Amino acid sequence: MDASIEPEVNVPNSVYAILACSVAASIATGAYGSGTNRPVIINDSARRAAVAELSSKHLGLPIKNADVAKMKGSFYEMRGGEMHAAVDILQPRNTPVMAVEDGVVAKLFTSRFGGLTIYQFDPTKKYVYYYAHLQKYAEDLHDGQAIRKGQIIGFVGTSGNAPPNTPHLHFSIAVLGKDAKWWQAAEVDPYEVFARR
Ligand SMILES: [Zn+2]
Repeated sequence: MDASIEPEVNVPNSVYAILACSVAASIATGAYGSGTNRPVIINDSARRAAVAELSSKHLGLPIKNADVAKMKGSFYEMRGGEMHAAVDILQPRNTPVMAVEDGVVAKLFTSRFGGLTIYQFDPTKKYVYYYAHLQKYAEDLHDGQAIRKGQIIGFVGTSGNAPPNTPHLHFSIAVLGKDAKWWQAAEVDPYEVFARR
């Protein structure tokens, strides 16, 4: 094994409270997109319906045995003036990241803030799952690839603006707009979905 990718010592849980992940509302504000983005707005009832539907999918966790209770509230935290709209899961560098559902790789995207990222569509192309700050992708992963729930698609890291000593997965779930553009979607709280699955 390459010494440069040896797993690091785990990070204490207290770091959750001060985590400086400033990736915020990334999809809805177009921070990751092509510059032609418009936020997709959904109302509260549509958001509740999305959470209920997503819960009924019984998604897998993107990190094996991730502590769902620790994700509570992360979605609503303000980061750099914008809502975080995601959850951060602290893990040692190079911990495997797994697809939460079957679907397709919509886009492998390298962004200034999110670093190495994966946008995954669900099988209905109604939802997009977003995995950011990866150390690396799974070998041969590519746009358009069909992936299965539980499949390892990448590895936890600090790419983008994650603090170098705080490897974590930044994960979000969003409802796609009508024409299923990977950069146009409205986030729902992953904690709510995972807590009810
Ligand atoms: Zn984050």
